[in-house]
Amino acid sequence: MAKNKLTVGFVALTGCYGCLLTAIFNEEALLELANVVNIASFPFIKEKNYEGKFDVLFVEGTAVSQQDKQHLIEFRKKSNVLVALGACSSDGGVPALKRFVPKKTFDRLVYPKNPDIADLHEPMRIDEVVQVDHYLPGCPPDKEQVLTFIKNAALGREMKKHLYDNPVCVECRSNGNRCLLEEGRMCFGPVTRGGCHAVCPSNGLECWGCRGPTSDANLNKMIDLLKEKGFTDNDIKQRLLTFTGIRFNEIRQMNVEWVPSQ
Ligand code: SF4
Ligand code: SF4
Ligand code: SF4
Repeated sequence: MAKNKLTVGFVALTGCYGCLLTAIFNEEALLELANVVNIASFPFIKEKNYEGKFDVLFVEGTAVSQQDKQHLIEFRKKSNVLVALGACSSDGGVPALKRFVPKKTFDRLVYPKNPDIADLHEPMRIDEVVQVDHYLPGCPPDKEQVLTFIKNAALGREMKKHLYDNPVCVECRSNGNRCLLEEGRMCFGPVTRGGCHAVCPSNGLECWGCRGPTSDANLNKMIDLLKEKGFTDNDIKQRLLTFTGIRFNEIRQMNVEWVPSQ
């Protein structure tokens, strides 16, 4: 490894590799990064990946098995700074839905022919297993934010655990969008951490909360407001639990009958 450059790696637990694909930088960014960091491990790009110590290690995915947990503990041991990359890693993501659905529903509808898979342990966000230094949330995370993080780390700048903690509404309003919530749609922008340039409402889609709750999210008020607008308790909870349910559920315990019995 060349001296004076940060040794950076990307690794994955159980996920869809969407976060890693997002973080594949364009040629211009790669040239810029090449001056300040060694990207020493990156599945997709490198056939042989470095296995020593990392200055910064980005981890995609949820820990859904004993093997994932063991890998994660190893990742922590060999990284100076460990970064949760994406919703699965930061907040449990879609795999953590399993925590909110009765086991019999999974056994019956999802894994009827694969009981071994059904026996995997409870999906966990990575900070339920190891200490996490920084979070780059989102499904997938924002590419620019990943790049900014690496540049700041290379320059030795201090960074908070989350680079951005304002709600999505702040960027949405500054983009000049009309408000979908005011139009009666179920948009979770007021309680969701921004930093994604409000990409969904800027394209006419509701925010589903994929970057998790802000640190001071008033979830009770949000749910009451949506109920006043005619949404059912179950519809609201199902959507809130879809991407970052573990976090939202910590604020307000939500019992959901996820899949209708048939
Ligand atoms: S956060 Fe989204 S894009 Fe990233 S691994 Fe999970 S499901 Fe895939
Ligand atoms: S559309 Fe959603 S994100 Fe935008 S201002 Fe309204 S509630 Fe907030
Ligand atoms: S607007 Fe909401 S759902 Fe869309 S990317 Fe941003 S946080 Fe995720």
